[in-house]
Amino acid sequence: MEISCFTVGAFQVNTYLLKDEATGACAIVDTGESDALLQQLQVFQPRPDIQMILLTHGHLDHAGSLVPLQQAFDVPTYLPRLEQALFETLPKQGDWFGAPHMNRPCGRIDYWLNDGDMIELGQTQLHFISTPGHTPGQGCYYDENDIFVGDTLFSGSVGRTDLPMGDNVLMQQSLAKLIELPGHLRVHSGHGPVTTLAQELATNPFLEFLR
Ligand SMILES: [Zn+2]
Repeated sequence: MEISCFTVGAFQVNTYLLKDEATGACAIVDTGESDALLQQLQVFQPRPDIQMILLTHGHLDHAGSLVPLQQAFDVPTYLPRLEQALFETLPKQGDWFGAPHMNRPCGRIDYWLNDGDMIELGQTQLHFISTPGHTPGQGCYYDENDIFVGDTLFSGSVGRTDLPMGDNVLMQQSLAKLIELPGHLRVHSGHGPVTTLAQELATNPFLEFLR
């Protein structure tokens, strides 16, 4: 799988373009809250064959630009099922951050994901694992080499749980579950640099309870 990262918008969120090398099929992971990703994709070469949009969770910096992306790429969109209630607050999430100009419409969800679901991107099989805590349904997508974790885990840190609908107990359980996946997996976070699960288990102060 070929991976391009686009860091976009006011929250400097990492969005991703995944490409199944065998077929050229592409997926977008997360959207940003502005039209920055769309602008970059429209000039991206070679022109990506975008077949799906995958959302890690329903925060505005990850899902807020879904509507313009769907207008440009009318493709199936996936969101964790447990994320529905939070996703539906997109029209007022800007208010939570004192930024009502960032309130966004919801866009369309075609598939609601449950823990253990699998998605076929060309010949690449993407597994979905539910990792709630940062949000009620935050989830991650992974193949045999890479995992896209949204705001579950960062290089040297973890997602905050003090926002509305966050849950610290669930977060601890999810981190324990995540770290059982193969350590060589490259971790592509919603913010910050690439790391690996093994590196985070060894050094991340927020994972000390798992060592
Ligand atoms: Zn978030």
